[in-house]
Amino acid sequence: MSVFTAAADQSLCTPLPVLGEDVTVPLVTGGEVTYAALDYAASAPALQRVWDDVAAYAPYYGSVHRGAGYLSQLSTDLFENSRATVAEFLGCRADDQVIFTRSTTDSLNLLAAVVPADCQVFVYETEHHASLLPWRDARVTYLNAPRTPAQAVETLERALADRDPYGPALVCVTGASNVTGELWPVKELAAAAHAHGARIVLDAAQLAPHHPVDIAELDVDWVAFSGHKLYAPFGSGVLAGRADWLQDAEPYLAGGGASRKVARRTDGGVDVEWHSTAARHEAGSPNVIGVYSIASACKALTEAGFDRLVAREQQLVTRVREGLAEVPQVKVLSLFGDDAPRVGVISFVVEGWNSSHFAAALSAEYGIGVRDGLFCAHPLVRTLLGSDPQDPGECGAPEAEPGELPQSRTDSTGGTPL
Ligand code: PLP
Repeated sequence: MSVFTAAADQSLCTPLPVLGEDVTVPLVTGGEVTYAALDYAASAPALQRVWDDVAAYAPYYGSVHRGAGYLSQLSTDLFENSRATVAEFLGCRADDQVIFTRSTTDSLNLLAAVVPADCQVFVYETEHHASLLPWRDARVTYLNAPRTPAQAVETLERALADRDPYGPALVCVTGASNVTGELWPVKELAAAAHAHGARIVLDAAQLAPHHPVDIAELDVDWVAFSGHKLYAPFGSGVLAGRADWLQDAEPYLAGGGASRKVARRTDGGVDVEWHSTAARHEAGSPNVIGVYSIASACKALTEAGFDRLVAREQQLVTRVREGLAEVPQVKVLSLFGDDAPRVGVISFVVEGWNSSHFAAALSAEYGIGVRDGLFCAHPLVRTLLGSDPQDPGECGAPEAEPGELPQSRTDSTGGTPL
């Protein structure tokens, strides 16, 4: 069977206005059509409200934490108020830190850089590469793909029961899969981790745009997410959670902003006192626009009401899945089964089609944008397709080198590789 995978997602279901929703694109068959972006799980355009907030802020643009001038103070206030907004959005505990990063990938790499050297890390092979790979230098245990949420908890409990009970341990898990859209049993996994003295970080890149993520309620130790999947522009992300490992570790980046005091030593070297707050890991001039945009998007989603968003999304997920079920050549991919709770991300294979050819045709002939390939989750996609997750061989289209267009797409779409 040739492989075709594509994702339909929340682009269909947000009642909030997003930039670019009425882009008209030419078709190879002649004429033009309103573009249907079904690849918001990869990146969602920013909400109009976010651009409006940024535009309103623009005249007051000034250096953050680096000036006594009015504009500088205003920018600093906006930056720090954005931190408070994100903390509220995530239901942070009083002692939690909210650190602004570039993305979920950056947030998880930051956490990987601060885990204690003897920390054992447990990660499912089903994770997105952003949560699968940052731990490669730590003592990592890769957990086999579970086939039910209950099995996910059992697998973790078994692995944790076998670990050195005295050393630090961390579990890394996604809240909603970027491939199947399925929700993972985060609360149960957090309880299992804590029962065995381990900590847990939630990759909420796909969960946060669809569901409320409450750190305290889920009882997770850290949460990571990206602005560009939450209707804010590219370039900003968040790592929020427990302060201790973050405060104890060397800064993720060394430089101004992270340092409280720097002095030459008599032996010629330099002594540095680092901040113990979030600033410790935010060296350099921050991405104020990105941070302010995330806060604006958090407010917009909260005001829109997740109950309303989830209800609309579920209607659309049902509609798409029912439509796909009517096409005999289509098989929707699922780890936990058809009835598993899920967000609006759907992947499927079409018998007889190569995924990149089919995606290119959807774009060129119908003006529909989808993500195809292995979705930065190669072992998971291999498992879903029934091939060996350890098999390095190809399944589906190979991912393009950054900056290169995949051969199959260049003629028909000229699309940008992911
Ligand atoms: N985790 C999941 C579940 C994702 O879907 C993604 C992106 O697709 C990431 C992490 C990485 O996000 P970013 O590319 O913004 O770092």
